[in-house]
Amino acid sequence: MIEFDNVTKVYSNGTVGLRNINLTIREGELVVIVGLSGAGKSTFLRSINRLTDISSGDIRVNGKSVTRASGSQLRHIRRDIGMIFQSFNLVKRSTVIRNVLSGRVGYHSTFRTMLGWFPKQDVELSLDALQRVNIREKAYVRSDQLSGGQQQRVSIARALAQEARVILADEPVASLDPLTTRQVMEDLKRINRDMNITTVINLHFIDLAREYATRIIGLRAGEVVFDGTPEEATDEA
Ligand code: ADP
Ligand code: ADP
Repeated sequence: MIEFDNVTKVYSNGTVGLRNINLTIREGELVVIVGLSGAGKSTFLRSINRLTDISSGDIRVNGKSVTRASGSQLRHIRRDIGMIFQSFNLVKRSTVIRNVLSGRVGYHSTFRTMLGWFPKQDVELSLDALQRVNIREKAYVRSDQLSGGQQQRVSIARALAQEARVILADEPVASLDPLTTRQVMEDLKRINRDMNITTVINLHFIDLAREYATRIIGLRAGEVVFDGTPEEATDEA
């Protein structure tokens, strides 16, 4: 489903982001990428939907090369990939439902959606997505009136409304308190299990990785130094 084929990323200043990465993430996995700050976690995640261009090698999503994709092919690949960020990336002054509806933009190319008007079935889909993360009652509230945890659940709902088959979450709980962190991790885990959405999450807490992942990949200085089950990720490793 997501294949890294000898992937190396060297930034223009010479910094190595990723070095010779070879691995396959299968459909339905919940992979947590762990490593210290600067290990390459964010580069790894962002290269999957080509927010970052790699220097050599190839990345394939569902068999299609992201590296060699044309503009329209890339848009198509990206439609299947929902992104979740540490800082939520919501339009703060917009309502929750409008933020979730924005996940539908890639499905239309009409003047109406450009103005923010979506078909009724998109609204239904968005409300269902909000239901799945238990904040449907906040649909018509302005996004900046929600707590951090609620805002992160809105961004998960946006990925669901997008009908993403893959969720990439870059430090999704880094700005949340411990209780809210658990709620958001539970939501991601539940969605991964119930909807079979392949999920890749960057975390810097190994304990959370052990608790929620089906597979842990450890990075150090751009290289894979661990790839195994949570049970194998013991402290002497
Ligand atoms: P992590 O997400 O694990 O903190 P990153 O993927 O952000 O790691 O960074 C990996 C390495 O690449 C680090 O040494 C970082 O300083 C470097 N890096 C990240 N982005 C850039 C950039 N735009 N230009 C140069 N170096 C970068
Ligand atoms: P606005 O204040 O932006 O004019 P409206 O009064 O038209 O909003 O609608 C109220 C809320 O309902 C808005 O937050 C809007 O996002 C949402 N909404 C309901 N149906 C739709 C739809 N078909 N397309 C887009 N937004 C919708």
